[in-house]
Amino acid sequence: MNREAILRVAIDAPLSRLFDYLPPSADLESLPRPGCRLRVPFGRRTQTAMLLEVGDRSELPLAKLRRAHEVLDESPLLDAADLWLIRFASDYYHHPVGEVVAAALPTLLRQGKPLDPVAPHLAITGEGAAADVASMTKKAPRQVQLLSLLQDAGRLRFDELDELMPGWKRLMKSFLDKSWVTLVEATIECCSESATNHNAGPAQPGPALNADQAAATLAISGQSGFSVSLLDGVTGSGKTEVYLRLIQEALGRSRQALVLVPEIGLTPQFVARLEQRLGIAPVILHSSLSDNVRLDAWRAARTGAARLIVGTRSAVFAPMKNPGLIVVDEEHDSSFKQQEGLRYSARDLAVARGKQLDIPVVLGSATPSLETLQRCIEGMYRRLVLPVRAGKAVPPLLRVVDLNRHQPSDGLSRPVIDAMRQSLADDGQVLVFLNRRGFAPTLICQNCGAIAECSRCDARMTVHSRNNRLMCHHCGAMRPLDGECHDCGGTVTPLGHGTERLEDALRIHFPEQLVTRIDSDSTRRKGALNKALAMVTSGETGILVGTQMLSKGHHFPKLTLVVVIDADQGLFSTDFRGTERLAQSLIQVAGRAGREQRQGEVMIQTGFAAHPFWSELLQGGYERVATSALAEREKAAWPPFSKLALLRAAATRRQDTHDFLEISRKKAEAVNAGGVRILGPVSAPMERRAGRYRAQLLFQSGKRQPLHRLLQALCEDFETNASARRVRWSIDVDPIELF
Ligand code: ADP
Ligand code: ZN
Repeated sequence: MNREAILRVAIDAPLSRLFDYLPPSADLESLPRPGCRLRVPFGRRTQTAMLLEVGDRSELPLAKLRRAHEVLDESPLLDAADLWLIRFASDYYHHPVGEVVAAALPTLLRQGKPLDPVAPHLAITGEGAAADVASMTKKAPRQVQLLSLLQDAGRLRFDELDELMPGWKRLMKSFLDKSWVTLVEATIECCSESATNHNAGPAQPGPALNADQAAATLAISGQSGFSVSLLDGVTGSGKTEVYLRLIQEALGRSRQALVLVPEIGLTPQFVARLEQRLGIAPVILHSSLSDNVRLDAWRAARTGAARLIVGTRSAVFAPMKNPGLIVVDEEHDSSFKQQEGLRYSARDLAVARGKQLDIPVVLGSATPSLETLQRCIEGMYRRLVLPVRAGKAVPPLLRVVDLNRHQPSDGLSRPVIDAMRQSLADDGQVLVFLNRRGFAPTLICQNCGAIAECSRCDARMTVHSRNNRLMCHHCGAMRPLDGECHDCGGTVTPLGHGTERLEDALRIHFPEQLVTRIDSDSTRRKGALNKALAMVTSGETGILVGTQMLSKGHHFPKLTLVVVIDADQGLFSTDFRGTERLAQSLIQVAGRAGREQRQGEVMIQTGFAAHPFWSELLQGGYERVATSALAEREKAAWPPFSKLALLRAAATRRQDTHDFLEISRKKAEAVNAGGVRILGPVSAPMERRAGRYRAQLLFQSGKRQPLHRLLQALCEDFETNASARRVRWSIDVDPIELF
């Protein structure tokens, strides 16, 4: 029997299996290889699919298989290692493989567009080539010119023709009529300028490494093959210098380096520093690039033209021809975890990828995640410590201001105002940190006490004074701020503080200072963030007020004082990660202070000054907080001492989510061979969001295997289970938010 090859493809659909197709025709000269895209019939539509396997049998009878329409790529877009990562992510996160492919590919490739850019060309035909230029009349010199251009070149792009012979287009019709030329869509060979590491000028030498930096660099580069190193160094300790040396070494061995940074870490300052020191402009990959630019960058990474790739989360999937090093900067940052769709951790995938590629992975942070610290303790990762600030900078002084002793007005306590005066008088800059945007988090009626709430969420509306609106920060709902209570018509007042209100108060207290607010509202317009940052860096700004947008990556040379307005939100968090997060965000924002010669100071306002967290942080720093948090986690068997997964469900009818989760729980209990604790269903603390009721089941297990088997069984069940169709469900492996 003449067996036909079976093409197993992944399709962007919420189904976890692969789909079998026959090749476009039975007598195909050569079969496409895995990693090539195909166009296939799928239901009544045509879909772009990724070929993952070529086999020789199918579970379906041959007669039932459909033929693929066409093969889109001559050679694989993704190599075996890229495909491995995709399948690993799909298995690990229990997510349909076609959707993982979709997450890994730039939009244009997902849509079936060609990898190399195409452009219309004019190509000479046999007849055109044979036409005798010499015999053509002198009356048609332009025809002669165009014909000889094409005879010489074979084919030319429209834009090339425009340059060589302006006005050539008027001749096109007659040339086509004479069959001298044809129109073809052909690929353009070169990469666009933006995506190659064009030379950014000579590389500037860096400082001589101090002993700790040198030891860390040596420890990492002295080993070949896979290793994971945690570069644990306070802000300003010179981690970036170590990355730079390692990148230089990788480039020197003709290998590529991939640097992953948090969403707000991709600052122009950081990119400029890499550029100056390495003498090449890194290729940037992040989600808000235009489709074309993103494809260019992706292609450059794939061909190896991009030697240094710097990107956010999704860049972990960037293909690389000669991978040599992966760096994850600020590895603790929550933006490395995708919170929708494929809920992956780019940090964890980076480690998996490094292992598969057999290359070193460097995780850097001033405040490492407890997961990473525990892996160091267990000996899986190596911990390299940079204990002191490099150069002349000294660490900032931390101080807690007890709000019970110093009643704040407008959110600012007396000691804070005095310290601000002092810093400003000494020509320093002050950063006032409040992780709450808007004017006030609550609007209350003075008459009846009613609070303005979102009609679609179990949440309060935030007052925004700059555009006179009430906004829900959970669903984006908005309504005008009309100053009257909807229930009784009484007068309403804003309660509490957001960055807008703080900005107003600071202007009143410090009328001679320029106050600059930086949060996601003030920086919505394109270019606004860079403009504000420039004012801060130049020293024009005296007082900088903002949210956590300010806490990372930025280097403000004049900044001497950081004020944390309200640290108490994190102190009593219901999430077991609350303390870790609070300590991280405080240390990160504190790290902005005193980055040059002058010592920085950090003042933290709290209503709970006696809480043990403060003495731990002030006396032992992040390390002490982390150690005691790890001990608590171990006692309570939370991660990293157990593995977690969440099954979330949401529906417009409350009953549907609970029914679904009850059924899921029974199913899970039936397949649980023991070892997995099943908790719930419970409603989310904010149960209704954007009109949907939300609830969840939590799975907790000492070992990963039983948890994976259980999730696998659930996913298979959901594909055919009617109750699953009435809800939006998702599985979150290693969740970082429990609700
Ligand atoms: P991190 O990445 O840990 O925050 P950086 O690498 O940005 O630290 O270094 C902080 C500052 O110290 C930078 O201005 C850097 O140029 C400087 N620096 C780093 N290493 C050294 C060194 N060995 N000698 C002198 N200055 C250094
Ligand atoms: Zn809402």
